[in-house]
Amino acid sequence: MSDLDHNLSLSETYLKRFKSAPTGHFINGEFVVPPGAELYTNVTPTDNSELGQVVAGTVGDVNLACDAAETAFTEWRDMPGAERKKILNHFADKVVERAEEIAIVESMDCGQPIRFMRQAAVRGAANFRFFADKAPEAVNGLALHQDEHTNYTMRTPIGPVGIITPWNTPFMLSTWKIAPALAAGCTIVHKPAELTPLTAMLLAEIANEAGLPKGVWNTVNGFGETAGKRLTEHRAIKAVALVGDSTTGKHIMHQGAETLKRIHLELGGKNPVIVFDDADFDRALDAVVFMIYSLNGQRCTSSSRLLIQSGIKDQFLAALEERVRALRVGHSLDPRTEIGPLVHTGHFDKVMSYMDIAKQDGARIAVGGNARSDLGAGNYVEPTLFCDAQNTMRIAQEEIFGPVLTAMSFETEEEAIHMANDTQYGLAGYIWTNDTSRAMRMAKYVEAGMLWVNSENNRNLPSPFGGIKMSGIGRDGGDFSFDFYMETKNVCIAHGTHRVPILGAVN
Ligand code: NAD
Repeated sequence: MSDLDHNLSLSETYLKRFKSAPTGHFINGEFVVPPGAELYTNVTPTDNSELGQVVAGTVGDVNLACDAAETAFTEWRDMPGAERKKILNHFADKVVERAEEIAIVESMDCGQPIRFMRQAAVRGAANFRFFADKAPEAVNGLALHQDEHTNYTMRTPIGPVGIITPWNTPFMLSTWKIAPALAAGCTIVHKPAELTPLTAMLLAEIANEAGLPKGVWNTVNGFGETAGKRLTEHRAIKAVALVGDSTTGKHIMHQGAETLKRIHLELGGKNPVIVFDDADFDRALDAVVFMIYSLNGQRCTSSSRLLIQSGIKDQFLAALEERVRALRVGHSLDPRTEIGPLVHTGHFDKVMSYMDIAKQDGARIAVGGNARSDLGAGNYVEPTLFCDAQNTMRIAQEEIFGPVLTAMSFETEEEAIHMANDTQYGLAGYIWTNDTSRAMRMAKYVEAGMLWVNSENNRNLPSPFGGIKMSGIGRDGGDFSFDFYMETKNVCIAHGTHRVPILGAVN
C-alpha cells in the first residue's frame, strides 16, 4: 500500500463521522444541530467531493453562544491562574494525542499538504502550552512609585471575546488566537471559516474533554455575513480578534463600532523578499522558494514579491526557475506532495485569473501559469513564477494567495526600499544580505510589522506578530496577546501623608 493509500484509508476513518451526520455548533458544553437548521455542503479541495453537511449558524445560534460565554465568564475569570494553566496544558496533551487525526482531517478539508499539516497539531499544542504556563502571571502589572502614593497596575480579562478565523491554516491559527484568550481568563465564541469547519469541531471536542467549564469555549459554524457579523455586534462580546482578508477587517470595524468593540486584525499581505548581490545565494534561494510555495502560497506571511538585485538577477532567476519547475504538485495526503489543491473552486478561479492579468500587464510567465487538470477534479494549479514585472502591476500589488511569485529587479538599496514600501500592505518582509549595516538600515526603513533578516519565517512565541497599513491592527505573541485580551487597571494608594485639597471649609 502506498503512503497516499494508507493516508486515504485513515481519512475514511476520521471523516466518516462528518459524512454521516451534520456538523453543528458547540454551545454551553453541548454539541448541537438546531432543529430545522439550514445546512450547506462542505467539500474537499482534493477532488471537490462532499465531506459532509454543516450548519449555517443563525443570529439566534450566535446569541445563544454569546450568552453562554457571558454566563461562564465570572467562574473562568475567578479561577486561579494555576488551575487554568493545568486545564490548558491538559488540553495541549489531548491535541498531541490526536495529532494524526487533526493532520489528516485538516489536509482533506483545506488542501494543505500533509507534510506541513503534521506540524499543525504540534504547533497548536505548543501555542496552548506557552500561554497556559503564562496564565498565573497574566494579571501581573507594574509598580509605579510617587513620593506620597504608590501606584500599581493589574490586568483583568476583558470579558467574552469573539475569535474569527480563516481557511488557510485553520487549526493552527485557531489555537494561536484562542490559547491566549483562555489563558487570560476570557471566555470565547469561535467562528471558524465556512470553507474549513472540521478541525474547529475537533478543537471543541478536545475542549470538552479537557475539563473546560461549560460555556467557556463555544463554536458556531456558518457564514461571515450572518454568524460572523452577529458575533461582532453582540453586546456581551467585548473584543473581536479576526484573522482574515483586509476587506473583512473593514467590515468588522464598522460592525463593532456600535458596541465599541476592541478589535485585533491580522489581515493580508504582499510581502517582499529582498535579495542583495552579496546574499548567501543558496540559503536565499531555499528561503525564497519555501516562503511562497509552502502551504500552497495560502499564507499571510508568504513572500509573494521577489526583489532581486541586478548583479545576481540572471543567475538567481535561472536557479529559481529550475526549482519551481521541480516542485511536486499532488494530492494533499501524499507525503511527497509539496503543493496541494487550493482551498476552493472560487479561490482557484481567483488565482487562475492572475495568469491572464500577468500577460495583459506585460509580465512574462517564466514557469507555470496553468491548471493541473491532469490531477483530477481537485483545485490544482502549477506553481507559477512571473518575471519581468513592474511594481505597479496588479500581480505585484494584489494578494493572490496562491503558489505564485512575482519577481522584479532593483539596482540600489534606496530603490529596494521604495519598491518594498510601495504597496497598501505592511505585514512582513525578508532581507537577504551579508552586510550587517545594510540589514540594519533596511530593517529600519522597510514598512512592515515583522522583518526577517537572512531567514525565512521563524516564529518565536513571545515576539510580537502582526502588521501595519492594510495588513492589520494589533500584535499577538507573549504579553502582547494579554494586552489585547485584558484590561489594565491602575490602583493608586496614598501613604496617608499628602494634603487632600479642602473645599467648602467652614472656619
Ligand atoms: P476572510 O476574511 O474571507 O474570512 C475570514 C473569516 O472572517 C471567516 O471566518 C469568515 O467567515 C469571516 N467573515 C467574513 N466576513 C465577515 C463579516 N462581515 N463579519 C464577521 N466575520 C466575517 O478570509 P479568508 O479568505 O478566510 O482567509 C484569507 C485571508 O486571511 C487572506 O487575506 C490572508 O492574508 C489572511 N490571513 C492573515 C493572517 C495574518 O496573520 N495577518 C494569517 C492568515 C490569513
